[in-house]
Amino acid sequence: MKVPIYSGLFFYPLSLLSIRITLKKPIYFDYASTTPVHPNVLKAMMPYFTEEFGNAGSSQHYFGWAADEAVESARKKISSYFGLAARQLVFTSGATESNNLAIQGYLQGKEPGHLITSSIEHKAVLQVFQYLERLGWSVTYLNPNSFGCIDIASVENAIQPNTVLVSLMAVNNETGNMTDFQSIAKLCKQNGICYHTDATQAIGKIDLRTCSNLPDLISFSGHKIYGPKGIGALLINTDAAMKSIMFGGGQERILRPGTVAVQQVVALAACFDLMSALVDSIPRINRFKHKILHELMADHIVNSADNQSVPHIISLSIPHLDWEELYRKIPAIAVSNGSACNAKSQLPSHVMKALGHTDALALATIRISLSYLHEESDIDFLIEYLNSQLPHR
Ligand code: PMP
Repeated sequence: MKVPIYSGLFFYPLSLLSIRITLKKPIYFDYASTTPVHPNVLKAMMPYFTEEFGNAGSSQHYFGWAADEAVESARKKISSYFGLAARQLVFTSGATESNNLAIQGYLQGKEPGHLITSSIEHKAVLQVFQYLERLGWSVTYLNPNSFGCIDIASVENAIQPNTVLVSLMAVNNETGNMTDFQSIAKLCKQNGICYHTDATQAIGKIDLRTCSNLPDLISFSGHKIYGPKGIGALLINTDAAMKSIMFGGGQERILRPGTVAVQQVVALAACFDLMSALVDSIPRINRFKHKILHELMADHIVNSADNQSVPHIISLSIPHLDWEELYRKIPAIAVSNGSACNAKSQLPSHVMKALGHTDALALATIRISLSYLHEESDIDFLIEYLNSQLPHR
């Protein structure tokens, strides 16, 4: 395949120049950052912007009833996917809010004790723990093993008599590395500890219907599974009392006050109609991943664990290249060097640092994230492009 010539295409990182002029759209390989809204999802949500625009809390008239019915049927559909009851799901604005509500909502009102998380969590978890430390909680931050994964043994060793909650993500957003969340759920249950997992990058990438040991609290977001931005959910698989971290109306059983975003909720439910297709596409994406790793000649270090990562996320660090130079060399592909949430800060990723990389290597990282939307020709282009643009060993 011939690599197109991007004549007149300039890509300057923000730190160099505040203007980026792109004359041709690159090919998107950043699906872990966000996904396009699937046409069926868009179709499902549209009526709730216009003809069915009611407030689900308006219990006196048709418009409210129609909105409420849509919200409750969405709640039932999503919760039943996980084998849970409708009352065990709270709609939020996304995974950031779900993580905050899960951790703070569970701990609110409790005497400060001990908590366990890891150094490779998303900032939406890490920063909550840093806040909790300021409130008097003691926190153990587990470090990844040499494969970049969190070992169950390290969780077991970290448990103290006063450990109240463990929060460990199911799939890391930067490396795709998986945590054995089912074993951790079992371990926590045996020890009477609440287990929260940020499953934002796991949904649609792992078949969660086959999981027998679900964590007590599960967070996720719609825009990673072909839904719109601004909608997510928290699954509450525990009888323990949860408290609101916001004050307002009594929506979402008081746990998430505020008018429910009916069209977003309907869209999130429509994403679950795509789930079988997403799960069915895993073997094909796995084949793409192996093809990339097998045919990539450019000098690189693979940050994604061999047998313990989802195939959708491939993290590569490129030695001996300054990150700005690296990104200037590959304008025809849209990849990121970590979490989009950190991108604007241009600091080395805390995940790459936890893997032991220097600042320079952590920054010179490309995360390729794949989708069922990719064609074989996209993968061929990616391989040929990286091989032609980057230095070889
Ligand atoms: N957790 C993980 C693992 C993520 O990948 C993201 C999105 N990058 C978030 C949380 C935050 O999700 P949202 O932006 O939808 O709040």
